[in-house]
Amino acid sequence: MGFTDRHLLGIEHLSPLAITEILDLADSYVALNRAPSKHADALRGLTQVNMFFENSTRTQASFELAGKRLGADVMNMSMQTSSIKKGETLIDTAMTLNAMRPDLLVVRHPHAGSVALLAQKVTCAVLNAGDGRHEHPTQALLDALTIRRRKGRLHRLSIAICGDIAHSRVARSNIMLLGKMENRVRLVGPPTLMPSGVADLGVEVYDDMREGLRDVDVVMMLRLQKERMDGGFIPSEREFFHRYGLDHEKLAHAKEDAIVMHPAPMNRGVEIDGDLADDINRSVIQEQVEMGVAVRMAAMDLLARNARAAAREGVMA
Ligand code: ASP
Repeated sequence: MGFTDRHLLGIEHLSPLAITEILDLADSYVALNRAPSKHADALRGLTQVNMFFENSTRTQASFELAGKRLGADVMNMSMQTSSIKKGETLIDTAMTLNAMRPDLLVVRHPHAGSVALLAQKVTCAVLNAGDGRHEHPTQALLDALTIRRRKGRLHRLSIAICGDIAHSRVARSNIMLLGKMENRVRLVGPPTLMPSGVADLGVEVYDDMREGLRDVDVVMMLRLQKERMDGGFIPSEREFFHRYGLDHEKLAHAKEDAIVMHPAPMNRGVEIDGDLADDINRSVIQEQVEMGVAVRMAAMDLLARNARAAAREGVMA
């Protein structure tokens, strides 16, 4: 089965075929985005609402551009100034918006599971743009597209995900996606930043960067998520960079053609050396951003198709 879901809430329930279908369509949107005229009609007449309860630069801009390029009417709700501040619950806000009949609701929220809960209450398609430490499906899909285009495949690769795994929804979604596509995933970081239950994730775990990076094809760095830390997870940022920060010396342990990724925002000089992040021979960080728009176009296009198919079936039933 391909991607037939009503919502995109996480990677957990996606099949390899569904993932491939989204990536294949995204590939065609990369070509469109590189053309002088970037408009398509896939979402013409539809309304997309972006509700971001947590700060976002790239993801919100990316979803907005994706919707506009496909012809949707896009509205960004500024949740900082919304009724939430007056004590309205997430569900009440969502129900109010739902009554305005949007077709696509893009939601980022600090609590794990909140986006799935909201999806049960509304009649439109919901896309999870990050819920707490839980999932960030479009980030994992854009990372997968970047890897597939750079490496020519998305299976039987060795991929090291490094740093603050415990607080990272990007890591969780990537571990699931890369595992489903039959890659070897290594987690590299200090034991204090490994999630509990790491043994059940089907990954190899290292606390030494040089060992963890040995012969990998992809090095995926993560931001140190200080906003989710409430105490002594690391001795100091300087010490962290010394042991776990990616620089050219540590990268030399990976394969010669290994690529360097980071979901951004980056803490330069903490988890990654600034020069390496800008080194276009190794770093694909800007390409990840480009793939983000294409993947979000593909995901929203497919959700709109699924909604139309469900409506047709409803009429025929
Ligand atoms: N932008 C990503 C996220 O929203 C990664 C990060 O914030 O470090 O999870």
